[in-house]
Amino acid sequence: MAERLVKPIPDRDSVAYWQALADGRLVVSHCRDCGHWTWPPRPICSNCHGDDLSLDEVSGRGEVYSWVVVHRSTTPDMMKYVPYTLALVRLDEQADIYIPGRLISDREAHRGMRVRVAPEKITDTLGDLAWKAEDAQS
Ligand SMILES: [Zn+2]
Repeated sequence: MAERLVKPIPDRDSVAYWQALADGRLVVSHCRDCGHWTWPPRPICSNCHGDDLSLDEVSGRGEVYSWVVVHRSTTPDMMKYVPYTLALVRLDEQADIYIPGRLISDREAHRGMRVRVAPEKITDTLGDLAWKAEDAQS
């Protein structure tokens, strides 16, 4: 389990999302009416505005769309990683769904870099998300 001073604060719509990450899975809001995936977790579909959504597990795979290298941490917890890459990853499930997270890789990020989710357990009910390059050694 990772030590964290700064933790996500789950709300009604995201508590199952953070729990899934603690359990090692990535779930995303999925509209039962139109099939659209919506992130972050919310009660309304960003495509059809319907309210019949469920949190469904996704493949956890995608590609880097954009990134930034962080040289000054904004929280004490992230200081151990500095400098680190914060990547915006486009999920394989849908072309317009992007999820940010720290990139774990021994190579520089590039657009189209294949990644998979690397959930990190903070507590028994809270997890956080990082992305790991599919060819990363560590
Ligand atoms: Zn919808």
